[in-house]
Amino acid sequence: MLTGTMNHPARDVIQEIEWMAHMGLEFIDLTLEPPTAASWRVDPHAVRAALEKHRMQVVGHTAYYLPLGSAFEEVRRACVSELRRCIEVFSTVGARWMNLHADRHTPMHPRPFYIEQNIRTFQELLPDARRLGVGLMIENLPGSYNTAAQLGELLEPLPELGLHLDIGHANLEVSYNTTEEILTAYGSRLRHVHLHDNRGGNADLHLPLGCGDVDVRRHVRALHHCGYDGTITLEVFTPDRHFLAYSRDVLRRIWEEEGAAAQNTHPESELVSP
Ligand SMILES: [Zn+2]
Repeated sequence: MLTGTMNHPARDVIQEIEWMAHMGLEFIDLTLEPPTAASWRVDPHAVRAALEKHRMQVVGHTAYYLPLGSAFEEVRRACVSELRRCIEVFSTVGARWMNLHADRHTPMHPRPFYIEQNIRTFQELLPDARRLGVGLMIENLPGSYNTAAQLGELLEPLPELGLHLDIGHANLEVSYNTTEEILTAYGSRLRHVHLHDNRGGNADLHLPLGCGDVDVRRHVRALHHCGYDGTITLEVFTPDRHFLAYSRDVLRRIWEEEGAAAQNTHPESELVSP
């Protein structure tokens, strides 16, 4: 398991990589968003060099407010152009996965309309993603894409899409945290995880771990249970980085404890080694 965090869109990406490396984080969740970290402003070769210097990995993140499902066809096509440029940047910096936030802002249209518009956008991106070696994955979002059934509307038609599970989001605008049901349905397609705390309801607080009611241990156990051992982004948004460092320590400790517990529950796995 690798721990990382996200760059601030208004700050210089290279400087963000420097402090993350200093903190001992193992990858950057690189969001390509204006004003400073826009896809047309970052220097992908400089980013790649900074990552190699610090032996850090990178996961691709795109702006959550892009109109992937727009009812205005020219606007949707412009969104596809922007996301193609993101795929190119991520390919150059060495990212193997790029996330997408499905859209739902099409007033006066029923849900099947914007589901279909999102799927068209994904289909138009997939040839470029394949050519450039960057996989596409869908992040669960409060409201419209936060249960296994809702995500299934996007994931079932396109088996190539990966799942990007946001455990904090899975706690919002639902009567129970949907992490386990999403993992039960699509755990085999899990490619990346976001983790942060909140107090339920509809406030996406992005708190340090332990400051809300997200049951981190239970969800880490669920990740172990489905065999996940990849990247986890601590999406803790705070100006004081001590809270981020604290969250990293909490995650690493719980991850190791639950990993050891899983080994004890399945002792046969120890017999596999020669
Ligand atoms: Zn997230």
